[in-house]
Amino acid sequence: MTSGVPTGGPASALAASVRAGERSAVEVVEDHLARIAAGDGELHSFLTVTADAARRSAAEVDRAVAAGIDPGPLAGVPVALKDNLCTRGVPTTAGSRILEGWLPPYDATVVTRLASAGAVVVGKTNLDEFAMGSSTESSAFGPTRNPHDPSRVPGGSSGGSAAAVAAGFAPLAIGSDTGGSVRQPAALCGVVGAKPTYGTVSRYGLIAFASSLDQIGPFATTVSDAALLLDVIAGHDPADSTSLASPPPRASAAVQRGVDGLRIGLVSELAAAEGLDPQVAARTREAAEALAAAGADLEEVSVPAAVYGLSAYYLIAPAEASSNLARYDGVRYGLREEGDDITEMYIRTRSAGFGPEVKRRIMLGTYALSAGYYDAYYAKAQKVRTLLVGDFDAAYRRFDALIAPTAPGGAFPLGSKTADPLAMYLNDVCTIPSNLAGHPAISVPFGTDRSGLPLGVQVLAPALGETVMFQVAAALEAAAVEVAAR
Ligand code: GLN
Repeated sequence: MTSGVPTGGPASALAASVRAGERSAVEVVEDHLARIAAGDGELHSFLTVTADAARRSAAEVDRAVAAGIDPGPLAGVPVALKDNLCTRGVPTTAGSRILEGWLPPYDATVVTRLASAGAVVVGKTNLDEFAMGSSTESSAFGPTRNPHDPSRVPGGSSGGSAAAVAAGFAPLAIGSDTGGSVRQPAALCGVVGAKPTYGTVSRYGLIAFASSLDQIGPFATTVSDAALLLDVIAGHDPADSTSLASPPPRASAAVQRGVDGLRIGLVSELAAAEGLDPQVAARTREAAEALAAAGADLEEVSVPAAVYGLSAYYLIAPAEASSNLARYDGVRYGLREEGDDITEMYIRTRSAGFGPEVKRRIMLGTYALSAGYYDAYYAKAQKVRTLLVGDFDAAYRRFDALIAPTAPGGAFPLGSKTADPLAMYLNDVCTIPSNLAGHPAISVPFGTDRSGLPLGVQVLAPALGETVMFQVAAALEAAAVEVAAR
């Protein structure tokens, strides 16, 4: 084991003590429910707290332990779920009025896997409506606030999950990442957040935003807790046609190995992206230096098409969303506003049920897909996507992993970007390339900005490169502690 690399984390410690019968899962869940009751009035990270169900599943975990049955690697660990994951009989809104009152008839595969691992779901977290946004302010149910400074946003769209972990309401949470929605809020809340390789975690029961980009990912306070959670939720699922058939790489396999001899590239285009806070650029360089000091072979590398990622994403994601969201028509799910005929019913339901950002995306996407514009916009964006994959492939012929900033700045004040959609979109400039390529990426807390707010640095890896990605992330985490102690 390399010295200075931290192991474990609060989630693995809790699971170990519950499995050993030293702590009861009921006591652990009561402790976290009390923290939520005391602190979430101000933060609003949860849309629904499932206190009774949590107590019941904790009691089941305790019964298993008493009977000598191992409840699993997450025994008794409280987990918060983004409210775009279907939970049977529990409200699932995707942050939208259009799904208010809808009760899913089934659990998402991730939810089933968590239960089989002994985890205890404590509630459903707030998000930007249909996961469209970078601040959690587009939720129809009001914003979430950042635990480090409640006048600021937690990032988004999985802002509720990131805030819940940062506030200590749950040691683990689940989010979804289509263009950065796990990694960007993780950075802004000072926690770890990862997007796995596309196809690694089943999307069955995840309310679709942009199906070719959506992936479910873990939040935790440490890299090894995030790896533990990912290893539980990853794996083939016949219910998701895009789920990979091969066994997923073990995220936790090499977290203690250090980076000696690894080749790591700093992505020039992202390290110097337009609009980057100089503090973010400085922290990213420090991260690169720290990895080099830990024995990595570090160099700058160019990924030229990365600069076109944002433009391509804001055509592809809205195009897929416009199609996915066509199903919310007042017939099958949630809200219905009556009309004199079916067309009027559709129009009234969708006008009343969707918020402004969702309507903007549907219009952008419908436009990009329309006859006459399809080739100029949607098809062109797909070509950029192919170029980007080629550029990454070239980089990974020379490097084991890449690093880049996560977000262009730290947490911003509530309301400061809501009037300017483009300013909001620019938050994803460094995270989007990994979604377009289908590659894994993780954000690790690394230093602070001028106001003392947390910043994150990303580790990127090629498809199915989770093992090396978590290995580098753990070294970065150790280096962050050393840099802070200086
Ligand atoms: N912020 C990006 C968007 O608004 C990404 C969202 C996401 O990853 N779900 O589309």
